[in-house]
Amino acid sequence: MGHKIEEAKSGRAACRTCKKPIAKGDLRLGEEVINAFSSSGEPSYQWHHLSCAAKKKPLVLEEALKTTDVVVADRAALEAEIAANRKNQKPSTFPYAERAKTSRSSCISCNEAIEKGTLRVAIERDVDTGSFVTKGAGYLHACCAAEWIPANTDITGDLLAAIAANSTSLEPADVDALKAELAG
Ligand SMILES: [Zn+2]
Ligand SMILES: [Zn+2]
Repeated sequence: MGHKIEEAKSGRAACRTCKKPIAKGDLRLGEEVINAFSSSGEPSYQWHHLSCAAKKKPLVLEEALKTTDVVVADRAALEAEIAANRKNQKPSTFPYAERAKTSRSSCISCNEAIEKGTLRVAIERDVDTGSFVTKGAGYLHACCAAEWIPANTDITGDLLAAIAANSTSLEPADVDALKAELAG
């Protein structure tokens, strides 16, 4: 289960990114997609050239490279491409942190605006739209996050590690700054 890298068994599959066929024998990335209509429970895959995936699906490819036992000849080049493109990807797992791109969000703890460029922590929360409740991101100033997080959490250990792993745009210096702010 999970995303995978394999040699294309035929030349019939097209790359989801560039729409061109993936030649038989070429390595391809299979992005596992949840198929709600499959009764067999078999995962289904969307295929990408590895070089296309490095551009458009860097996080998926990174995940697949970590677990694959297939020898990927141009791995170093792909990893460099992933590192370059990772920053443009929206994180998909909470909690994560980022520098606010606008000043439009406000902190769910102190209700003050989060200024553009400030480190903010995003957590998943219930959002009441008026007619139904859905899941959405809630943002916190890094310095307000400690008040919001359950008291028994190892904030600068486990939590910081999870945030750093989930975040796509943090620089190492941001992680250090975040640690200082979380510690209060
Ligand atoms: Zn392609
Ligand atoms: Zn705040």
